[in-house]
Amino acid sequence: MDAPHKTEKILTGIAASPGIAHGRAFVVVQTELELPVYHIDATQRDAEIARFDQALVATRQQIVKMQGEIARSLGEDEARIFDAHLLVLEDQALISETIREVDTTMRNIETCFRAVGQRYVEAFGRIDDEYLRERAADIRDVVERVLHNLTGRTVENLARLASDRVLLTYDISTSGSAGMDKSGILGLVTEAGSRTSHAVIMARSMKIPAVVGLKGASAEVEDADWVIVDGYDGLVVVNPSEQTLFRYGKLQLQRRTLEKRMLASARQPAQTLDRKHIGLHANIETADELQRARDAGGEGVGLFRTEFLFLQSDTVPSEEMQFETYRKVAEFFGSEPVTIRSIDLGGDKPVRWANFGEKPEANPFLGFRAIRFCLENIPIFKAQLKAILRAGAYGNVRLMFPMISGMDELDRALLVLAEAKAELKAAGVPFNTRMPVGTMIEIPSAAVIADLLATRCDFFSVGTNDLIQYLLAVDRGNMRTAHLYEPTHPAVLRTLKTIFDAAHEARIPVSVCGEMAGDPVMVPLLLGLGADDLSISPAGLTVVKYLVQHMRMADAVKLAREALEDPDAQRVAVRSMEFYRACMGDMATG
Ligand code: PEP
Ligand code: MG
Repeated sequence: MDAPHKTEKILTGIAASPGIAHGRAFVVVQTELELPVYHIDATQRDAEIARFDQALVATRQQIVKMQGEIARSLGEDEARIFDAHLLVLEDQALISETIREVDTTMRNIETCFRAVGQRYVEAFGRIDDEYLRERAADIRDVVERVLHNLTGRTVENLARLASDRVLLTYDISTSGSAGMDKSGILGLVTEAGSRTSHAVIMARSMKIPAVVGLKGASAEVEDADWVIVDGYDGLVVVNPSEQTLFRYGKLQLQRRTLEKRMLASARQPAQTLDRKHIGLHANIETADELQRARDAGGEGVGLFRTEFLFLQSDTVPSEEMQFETYRKVAEFFGSEPVTIRSIDLGGDKPVRWANFGEKPEANPFLGFRAIRFCLENIPIFKAQLKAILRAGAYGNVRLMFPMISGMDELDRALLVLAEAKAELKAAGVPFNTRMPVGTMIEIPSAAVIADLLATRCDFFSVGTNDLIQYLLAVDRGNMRTAHLYEPTHPAVLRTLKTIFDAAHEARIPVSVCGEMAGDPVMVPLLLGLGADDLSISPAGLTVVKYLVQHMRMADAVKLAREALEDPDAQRVAVRSMEFYRACMGDMATG
């Protein structure tokens, strides 16, 4: 290793993929693609549009090919990120606006497509929603690819060049990151990007340490400088000193030991030190996540968000197709419970094939979604219920309704379920006649009448994501109000207690499946307040299982009792953090 003669610098970004990498930097300064700009006359107009069509087709072929390669090497899940790119290519508004631009400006297609693409990117970039803002990156990516095809250039393969190096670049487009042979990259640093960008998701899945959002990094780091990428704390140390290298070497060893210990505990039951067993289940969105859910320690599925089956499809997925998917999940988990939620579509998750009304809703989160949509689209709803009932013959399946706001809605849903059962029976199709049926408690009105709902349900599952947003009137996706979204708000804690007590009074189990259940700091509070089970995305399961195995239920009950008396949400959050740290010991930093 070179003597670190240059001064050490520490740059702070956002931790995006855990791990520590040490190596020489490969700095890529991105330059804009130079495009020809020229006027065309009316006789050239059709030829320009034909060139555009060819470039769209070529781009489509490249993306589909890349998607196939990724599906083979990384799995269907990762490959699905290209669906958004294919949708951009098919966007009629984008295409017709480009043609209009040609007709009005009479300039070449590259100029027109770049102008329209930029307007789209800017419009999406302004939206106050992280997910939609990231769609701006998809559009930018596709526009660039089409422009390369128009000008005959190909996207450079950065990774081949950056083998055995830490790649530092402004941003990595999805197509750029997918085309890369990432096996050679030691670490990844980007100036732009967020934890949820495609490139970062890929880095996480390939266990490449990554730090993003490091503005100005390419000016601070020279090509071939030695760097440490600390993907745990979001730091990049440029030209690390001997002491820093020593410290990181020790840290890396320590982290590896901790990770090994945590993984070993994932195979043990989720039992507290004072022997209370907690049901720890996985939240899944597709049947591709089953193995990951089990490896992380999930003992079944607590929330299968089925709407993703519907969002991916151009038409309503058939009962048969749904049945096959649900059966796969049921069979995989055998006797362990699999809770399938009927679709929560509409609102912010509209689908092309369904009619959600002429105009966009002013308040989609308060609008026509989930059970409200199902009760007005009985054939779609009933087909899903039949598919779920049939899957029940192959495992321990439970059915759950989302967004129930009152008794009438629940009764109407149960009526459709009874009809679905009668029709299956008449047709002689096997199904589970005694399938447990529960509802999500995620609307404040449902929480208030939890005692009434409990008389009709076999279980509850608390959707804290929506419950908190409705209870505190804080849009869960709005960054400006994010600080008001407080899971430890006294109103939230009291409401949770009401729900848990109502369930126990009625002798039915109650689970929590919102993100609060996956936040290890909140877990002791939830369990102390009375949650029986937790359902968490696979990525968060391992640490929660370890925590459960290292806490005492009696202490959690005391923590919750004190929290209920405390009017200060911040203080409760701090106490919960202290509790978590005390249970985790040296693992708290892991
Ligand atoms: C919730 O609201 O907490 C929940 C789990 O449902 P979703 O996030 O799918 O709305
Ligand atoms: Mg919800």
